[in-house]
Amino acid sequence: MKNKIILLLTVTTLGLVSCKKEKELIEVTIPEPEKVEKTAMGNPADVKAEDEEGAFQMKGLPYAYNTLEPFIDAKTMETHYSKHHVGYCNKLNDALKGTDLESKSIEDILQKLDMSKTDIRNNAGGYYNHNLFFEILNANGGDATGEVLEAINTDFGSFEGFKKQFTESATKLFGSGWVWLIVDKSGKLVITTTANQDNPLMSKAEVKGTPILALDVWEHAYYLKYQNKRKDYIDGFFNIINWNKVNEKFNAASTKITE
Ligand code: MN
Repeated sequence: MKNKIILLLTVTTLGLVSCKKEKELIEVTIPEPEKVEKTAMGNPADVKAEDEEGAFQMKGLPYAYNTLEPFIDAKTMETHYSKHHVGYCNKLNDALKGTDLESKSIEDILQKLDMSKTDIRNNAGGYYNHNLFFEILNANGGDATGEVLEAINTDFGSFEGFKKQFTESATKLFGSGWVWLIVDKSGKLVITTTANQDNPLMSKAEVKGTPILALDVWEHAYYLKYQNKRKDYIDGFFNIINWNKVNEKFNAASTKITE
């Protein structure tokens, strides 16, 4: 529909004898504005693995793309989930196709991984790491609670001590990688980092254990909003940690050790 506007113009008519002013109504058509690209976000539930029969599928997100704003912006979240994460899922399915790993759990695949098989290493890592990262975020982060807080106090002295060490590890990590809070084989909480898409479940990880909290410090995780200010992204992350979920993971990892 064309936009129309009635302009009331004062038209000055120049007469030979005298100047006289008349008012006339003139209808003019305003050109349609150029189409603006829609920025509405899609629905994470619509993001599917290319191979619907593939060994691994997309799990969805427990929130919308814009839920974690302002700490993680909607565009970053959408790109991260619907482009990067689905890419790891698809490439993992391709790499596993026809092998006996297709029937294994992702944890099994990672723990028994032949590290020289880079296709599986990068994409199994990418798939597992992102699932954990997205799962332990939510909008109402708040302070750490429960048994994991007690363990943090025991193993790091205080929550502030833990936060400081985690933040330093994340700030100093060179290049692309991940920062982890893991339960090691003695049941102790440890902060560690890995490069690329490696993780502490892998056989050759420097520090091994069960991850209960993960932070993605690849630039794709924060660059749109924070550019080079990785520290601000890390500070933001501490506002959106789902501590109930971290407690669940902590309890499951601890139970496994005492079994
Ligand atoms: Mn990522």
